[in-house]
Amino acid sequence: MIFKWMRNRRRRKLAESPFPDEWLGIIHHNCRHYATLTSTERVRLLRDVRWFLDEKSIEVSLGLTLTDEMRVTVATQASLLGLGFAAPPFDRLITVILQPEIYVGTRIQREASGLELHSQEQRLGEAQRNGPVLLSWRDVVRQCRDAPDGRNVVLHEFAHLLDMADAAADGIPPLETEEQYRTWMDVTRIEYRRLVGQAEHGRHTLLDWYGATNEAEFFAVATETFFEQSVEMQKLHPRLYDVLCAFYKQDPASRWLRLAA
Ligand SMILES: [Zn+2]
Repeated sequence: MIFKWMRNRRRRKLAESPFPDEWLGIIHHNCRHYATLTSTERVRLLRDVRWFLDEKSIEVSLGLTLTDEMRVTVATQASLLGLGFAAPPFDRLITVILQPEIYVGTRIQREASGLELHSQEQRLGEAQRNGPVLLSWRDVVRQCRDAPDGRNVVLHEFAHLLDMADAAADGIPPLETEEQYRTWMDVTRIEYRRLVGQAEHGRHTLLDWYGATNEAEFFAVATETFFEQSVEMQKLHPRLYDVLCAFYKQDPASRWLRLAA
């Protein structure tokens, strides 16, 4: 209670103080979504970036020296995801760790027999419910500037955090109404199965095949496409686009279309 009161007081102070010019320059240079936002959305985003940087610890692993460019770029991209919610949604997150580039992690698969299989895999990032978010800085900065392939590791890993907010990593984040759950299940199950079938047959798809791994990855990949290839998604997957619009309370396709007009 006291913690919350102190945090809110601190947040009010931060929201009232001017946003550093140098940070704004970094956002203009690295975060192309910023140009698509309305002035009201920009004010909210900058406020959330300040709060994020004040409340979360962004650290680097061996081989990197932490800079404001790293801190501000990660905070901006993560805050974009939560822009439509009443308040920034990443309360549980404490630490983000940047790796210089793609790194090797250990994948643990549990067999039905209880046996655990350990294997090594290359990763751009990872998110755990009670642990840090790990991100490859080289990919963060490249994708935040121009997402050449519609991928965005920050959006992907922070979507996993939203999914895990209700404990289960099952591709179903906490929703507001029964009706929203029903629609979510109807639409995402069909879309997920369709992607699995297309990936099995090697067909070209807008959604990355990695989304066919399981429902949790499907939600994270669909989130990337929702923000990075919004107009195409609205055209090719209108029901999925609408479900994500209702969840994120954002309509990124209309932003890109307004910018292009
Ligand atoms: Zn993932």
